[in-house]
Amino acid sequence: MNTSIRQNLLNILESLEEHVTLVAVSKTKSHEEILEAYEAGQRVFGENKVQEMTGKWEALPKDIEWHMIGHVQRNKVKYMASYVALIHGVDSLKLLQEIDKQAKKHNRVIPCLFQMHIAQETTKFGLNETELDELVQSGTLEELNHVEIKGLMGMATFTENKDQIRKEFQFLKSVFDRLLPKLPQLSILSMGMSGDYPIAIEEGSNMVRIGSSIFGERNYSQ
Ligand SMILES: *Cc1c(COP(=O)(O)O)cnc(C)c1O
Repeated sequence: MNTSIRQNLLNILESLEEHVTLVAVSKTKSHEEILEAYEAGQRVFGENKVQEMTGKWEALPKDIEWHMIGHVQRNKVKYMASYVALIHGVDSLKLLQEIDKQAKKHNRVIPCLFQMHIAQETTKFGLNETELDELVQSGTLEELNHVEIKGLMGMATFTENKDQIRKEFQFLKSVFDRLLPKLPQLSILSMGMSGDYPIAIEEGSNMVRIGSSIFGERNYSQ
């Protein structure tokens, strides 16, 4: 038997300090399941596919903050530009330029995070430190008036080795601290998922993205 979404959510919220924002990761989950979390008070939800998120945005209450946490294809940005609250997965200048262009059409500024590659797996997207530095030093960020870089996001290696996970989170925090003098508007460090968020918070995360511990395991075949 699953415990209820409501109870899972409340248990996690109770364990989080106030400065940590919970993004409830609702990818593959139904409107009903999302509403159960909504009715328990949750307002920030994360999705990894633009079309799925847009369908949910259209159907669900308008005070939900939708975060795009997945890898974004440039040709999909236009579908979420009017409403997305935070894009976690920005990993190229070209993508950032497209977000800026689409945000401008809606006369808004879209908050974004740079995603860094901190895991050992090669499958996880993100910038390395050199690429990130090049982006920050290129001077192009200052020209983009319709995006605001609010922080960094990263995913640790999927492993039982807690020391390794901790090291990867420490690395991301060190990059964040190093960038801060150059980008004083940075305030968000998005790291930690169901399996590793307590370690992430110990290492300085202030935004955790939690799916299965709230909604149960995902079933991709349905
Ligand atoms: C799916 C996903 C999560 C949530 O994963 P859980 O292990 O279910 O908590 C967090 N971040 C990203 C980028 C994801 O794609």
